[in-house]
Amino acid sequence: MKVGIGSIREIRGGAVSFEGSLAIDFGQLGIDVVGPVNVRGTVTNTGEGFLVQASVDLEYRADCARCLEPITRQETVLISEEFTSDRESADTGTLFYFSGDFIVLDECIREQVMLSIPMKILCSDDCRGICPECGRNLNQGPCSCLPPNSNPQLSKLKTLLSTEGGGTNGKS
Ligand SMILES: [Zn+2]
Ligand SMILES: [Zn+2]
Repeated sequence: MKVGIGSIREIRGGAVSFEGSLAIDFGQLGIDVVGPVNVRGTVTNTGEGFLVQASVDLEYRADCARCLEPITRQETVLISEEFTSDRESADTGTLFYFSGDFIVLDECIREQVMLSIPMKILCSDDCRGICPECGRNLNQGPCSCLPPNSNPQLSKLKTLLSTEGGGTNGKS
């Protein structure tokens, strides 16, 4: 995805707006981006470089890290990154490089989207996951396996902890 900046190249404070879409492939990460990713934003000539501010809308599919159920999520990622045509400051700093009258946004967008999607995606914050014994999805109800705290050694430890004021009243 390219944005032409020829018209504001020499105009400090000049801005152009853009709109478009691109495809993002997460490769091995277990995240499938559904359909094109839509991008809307502006490029502003700051005098030192070109500031890209954009809003990126995407939808992706992944499996819950605990219960493995498929999840579809919509995400809006806000981007604010500076581009420079000075190779040296692009290499040494955090700026993106461009040359000519176009800024190519693909790499920048891909990077920012990757950073904003959590590594561990959960269907909900209190997902109960699956039983390690029978593999049942515990969000759909308990299984008939013995609960882990039926282990006498563990319950002894728990009693010990609770008498020491550690407290076991978290989420039940
Ligand atoms: Zn889950
Ligand atoms: Zn079970």
